[in-house]
Amino acid sequence: MIKRYPTKQIFVGNVAIGGNAPISVQSMTFSKTADIEATVAQIKRLHFAGCDIVRVAVPQMEDALALKSIKEQISLPLVADIHFNHRLALIAAEVVDCIRINPGNIGSKERVKEVVKACQARNIPIRIGVNAGSLEKEFLNKYGQTSEGMVASAEYNIKFLEDLGFDNIKISLKASDVQRTVDAYRMLRPKNSYPFHLGVTEAGTLFHATVKSAIGLGSLLLDGIGDTMRVSITGELEEEIKVARAILKDSGVAKDGLNIISCPTCGRIEADLVKAVGEIEERTAHIKAALNVSVMGCVVNAIGEAAHADVAIAYGKGKGLVMVKGEVVANLDENELVDRFVFEVEKMASKID
Ligand code: SF4
Repeated sequence: MIKRYPTKQIFVGNVAIGGNAPISVQSMTFSKTADIEATVAQIKRLHFAGCDIVRVAVPQMEDALALKSIKEQISLPLVADIHFNHRLALIAAEVVDCIRINPGNIGSKERVKEVVKACQARNIPIRIGVNAGSLEKEFLNKYGQTSEGMVASAEYNIKFLEDLGFDNIKISLKASDVQRTVDAYRMLRPKNSYPFHLGVTEAGTLFHATVKSAIGLGSLLLDGIGDTMRVSITGELEEEIKVARAILKDSGVAKDGLNIISCPTCGRIEADLVKAVGEIEERTAHIKAALNVSVMGCVVNAIGEAAHADVAIAYGKGKGLVMVKGEVVANLDENELVDRFVFEVEKMASKID
């Protein structure tokens, strides 16, 4: 049983973060934010894929000015990601549900104060987004791009906002490698109770980002650290959500959706298991009920696994069994098994949902 670190609860729009709220999944669009139509379309894709909170980059005035129209066309909470220019943050703060800034690169203290005031006025949080690649000079000179430097920067920025009477804060500490990222989060966690946004930044393509994020975010989640997260992938939007949800589920933090047990196949295999499991994954992706299912390539381990599964398939030569709670409910030709299996899963899920 994972014991989550107790954190202060904040809200990004209607999504609670911290304080034992479910760990939310975030993502980011890659369109030019000023291209309202494309950005709204990407946000809707993310929403459909199961994203809880979406972030958009706001590098130019035209992007900041597009936020109002974007916000009117979506229902996901919207975060504006801003570097260097506090005037963009001031415009965004009038519209969005959260501002992500790195206070160290937003300009003078006076400018940060103005941004804080704007966020206070609408009661929206600020994410202090520390990134190993953009540490303030004083920390870079003292610590280099290390986890110690990231923690020192976060503490400095937290205190800066707290001294302004602002504590509607969440924190991220991202580096492009797993070790520094995990070390930084672990180092900072006992020092305050603000909610943490987890992520390994610039993690790479689907394969590498999945591995890095599973190790990094998975380690932290198993430590009870993390209140919201993003898996960064150089690839399709939907993949980020799919991988993030899988990490939450496979680390044992989230209990929703199917836990699919399938064998790795071997010389005893009697069917095209790779195709069958792929089809099952696709056809059951919408199911929220926490069910254990197993799909096994021959009878060697299938019966044992099926005994613990809610629904199972045991393939044989050209035929196979569908089992529910360990009992055989159908003995069918191979090409009928997936349909019956999905039917049984949907039937059981409908009783739980
Ligand atoms: S269940 Fe059968 S086919 Fe699958 S790995 Fe085990 S022995 Fe091989």
